[in-house]
Amino acid sequence: MTTYFNYPSEELQKELKEIANALATPGKGILAADESTGTMGKRLASVGQENNEENRRKFRELLFTADKALIGQAISGVILFHETLYQKASDGTPFIDLIKERGIIPGIKVDKGVKDLFGSEDECTTQGLDDLDKRCQQYKAGGCQFAKWRCVLKINTNTPSYQAIMENANVLARYASICQAAGLVPIVEPEVLCDGDHTLERCQKVTETVLAATYKALNDHHVYLEGTLLKPNMVTPGQSCPQQATPAQIGRATVEALSRTVPAAVPGIVFLSGGQSEIQATTNLDAINKFNGPKPWRLSFSFGRALQASALKAWNGSDVAAGQDQLIRRAAYNGAASVGQYSGEESADAASASLFVKAHAY
Ligand code: 13P
Repeated sequence: MTTYFNYPSEELQKELKEIANALATPGKGILAADESTGTMGKRLASVGQENNEENRRKFRELLFTADKALIGQAISGVILFHETLYQKASDGTPFIDLIKERGIIPGIKVDKGVKDLFGSEDECTTQGLDDLDKRCQQYKAGGCQFAKWRCVLKINTNTPSYQAIMENANVLARYASICQAAGLVPIVEPEVLCDGDHTLERCQKVTETVLAATYKALNDHHVYLEGTLLKPNMVTPGQSCPQQATPAQIGRATVEALSRTVPAAVPGIVFLSGGQSEIQATTNLDAINKFNGPKPWRLSFSFGRALQASALKAWNGSDVAAGQDQLIRRAAYNGAASVGQYSGEESADAASASLFVKAHAY
C-alpha cells in the first residue's frame, strides 16, 4: 500500500510538463531513430551497406540534415541511440546541434534490451535500471529532454502471463520515475507484439490489461503523468490472423482500449508502427484520429520503420537528397494523420511493403 509520497517540486513538474506538451504539439510526432547497433546493421544490410560506425553515422546524417523548414513542421522530437548522440555531421557539426536548429527536441533510448523470463513461454523483461540515474543525468547534461524504454509483451494461448505483465509494468514505472528525477520526460512503451494469429478483440483485451497494469504501477511509483508520454501498439489483429481489420475497426478498437485505461492527465500517446507498412501505419493513425469517441490526449506517432523505410531505400547508400525527400514526405503524411487529415497517397512500392519482423528487437 502506498502510504506516503511527495509530488515532484513545482519547478520540476513545470519543466516536465512543458517538454511533454512540446513533444505532443498537434500535427507533429516523433522520429524513432534509436535502432541499436545490431538492428541498424539489418537496416543497412537491406541496402547493401556494411554495418560500421561510419555507415550508421552517414544514414543518421541524412535524417538530421533534412530541410530545416520542412522537417520541423511535422517532427517534434527524435529518439537517438547512445552512439548517435555523440556523432557529428561530415562538416563537424554535432548531430545534437543540427537537431536543435530544426526546432526538434532530442531524446535518447535508455533501455539495454530484452532478457528472457526464466521458465516462461518465451516471454521477456527489459534491462538497464542499474546505472540509469547516472546515465539520465549525463544525457540531460548532454542536451536530451526525454527518454524511451521499450518493454515487450507477446500474445499466445497462455501469454502474456501475469508475471510478465507485472514485471514489465513495474520496470517501466521504475524507469519513468528515475527519468523524471533527472528532468527527462519518460516515454513509456509497453509494446504488445503483433506476432500471431490472434483476433482484433484479443489484441484489444490484452492491450487494455497491459495498460491498466502499467498505469497502476506508474501511480504506485509516484510518476507525474502530465510529464510522460505513452508509446503503445495500435490495436490490430495478429499479423497472421486470417480475419484482418479495416482502418475504421482498428481506430475504434484502439481508442476504446486507450479510453478504458489511460488517464486524461497523459498529454500525448505516440504509437509505434510495429511492422505495419508505411501506408498502413499512416492510414491507421489517421483512422484513430478520425474515430468519434473520447480522446482526451493527443494521438500521434513515434515511428521507426514506418518513417525510415522509404528513405533508406531511396538513399541506397549514397543518394542523400532522394532519402531526405522520402523522409520529409512520410513525416508530412504522418503529421496530417495525427490530426485526422490524411487523404491518402499513390501507393509507391516501398511505402506499401510490409515491415514485419518476427519477434522484433529494437
Ligand atoms: P517501429 O515504429 O519500427 O515499431 O519502432 C518504434 C520504436 O521505437 C520501437 O521501440
